[in-house]
Amino acid sequence: MRALWLEDRRLHVREDVPIPEPPSGEALVRVLRAGICNTDIELTHGYYPFTGIPGHEFVGVVERGPSALVGRRVVGEINAVCGACGACLAGRRTHCERRTVLGIVSRHGAFADHLILPAENLHAVPDGVSTDAAVFTEPLAAALEIQEQVPIGARDRVLVVGDGKLGQLVAQTLALTGCALLVVGRHDAKLALLAARGIETGRADRAARGEFDVAVECTGNPEGFAVAQRAVRPRGTLVLKSTYAGALTLDAAAVVVNELTLVGSRCGPFAPALRLLAEGRVAVAPLIHARYRLAEALTAFEDAQRPGVLKVLLEMEAGCSSRGSEASEQRDVEPGVELERGPVVVQRPAFHVRMRVSETRLEPAQKIPARVGRAHTTGAGAEDVDSTAHVELQGSTRVEPELQVAIEPHE
Ligand SMILES: [Zn+2]
Ligand SMILES: [Zn+2]
Repeated sequence: MRALWLEDRRLHVREDVPIPEPPSGEALVRVLRAGICNTDIELTHGYYPFTGIPGHEFVGVVERGPSALVGRRVVGEINAVCGACGACLAGRRTHCERRTVLGIVSRHGAFADHLILPAENLHAVPDGVSTDAAVFTEPLAAALEIQEQVPIGARDRVLVVGDGKLGQLVAQTLALTGCALLVVGRHDAKLALLAARGIETGRADRAARGEFDVAVECTGNPEGFAVAQRAVRPRGTLVLKSTYAGALTLDAAAVVVNELTLVGSRCGPFAPALRLLAEGRVAVAPLIHARYRLAEALTAFEDAQRPGVLKVLLEMEAGCSSRGSEASEQRDVEPGVELERGPVVVQRPAFHVRMRVSETRLEPAQKIPARVGRAHTTGAGAEDVDSTAHVELQGSTRVEPELQVAIEPHE
């Protein structure tokens, strides 16, 4: 299979990696899409001595495993645990003393055509959640972990430091608690995404000293940490959500004098994250910056490290329909598919059709005849469309869930 391989801090795309053989209790998953996370970037800087396939944010289809999951789209918890050590028996499974971690510690990850994970780690993706959105389940779960650790309610004043990938999800989940929330960051465009959801935003100097019950540090840099520490009130709570590649200077005297509580926070619960996605209570589509094929993974990593860039996705699909031998079949396009210039993937459980959208015309790539049954579009030039061959979109960008595409295998 194809895989992105990390060795001696260097990445390269390999085509000769054997498809993994799942041991008892594990499932074989064909990866559809994966997200590049800061942890992956840190790995290439030597954050952990990891050799192998990175990647831990993914959506895939189970090819071998429990019959209830075979053929289904899944996401997966990244810690594979022993179930028998002291931590596991005490219920701290994400702290298993013998754990392996997908794409991070002693376990190949998701930037490949296939991965294996314990079947117990997998969660089926609800039909209403698009594959794009489901890629965010893992980081969204990590954002929700904060509320597992620190009770936050409507009376709390909460500061989020950082407007990046993690800060965005942390802010959106905290906003749902009804707390008085302020997000500070350095990027106007990123802050604007939050402001558009009614979240108060500003620069770091907006965060007054000692004003906040809880401050969540999501930048991973010492400046962000200093802002968060300064902003917490005496006996307040400082949550560290980012991993730090290096050492961090801590004003220990201030922690003691102000009796601050420091909380480190890592992986979180998947079920509520999927629920939030299914209910549409968090917006993840605006966080997608770009998508690349696996073969372009090195470019994708470069892009992901540019300042101001949010989530970069890798798509594993072969990008053609040759796998589908079924006869013409009506399928719903996943809800919320964003149609914009560039490739758009229409998802089916075991069959993918890549379509290219030009400014005003939706054209199936690779000469696959496609027929749009009933399209309902919003935006400029919105109209119901009933046609064959192509759909005139005329500047519309969003397809509503009712859109149906009939995909007929090419003769
Ligand atoms: Zn991550
Ligand atoms: Zn264990």
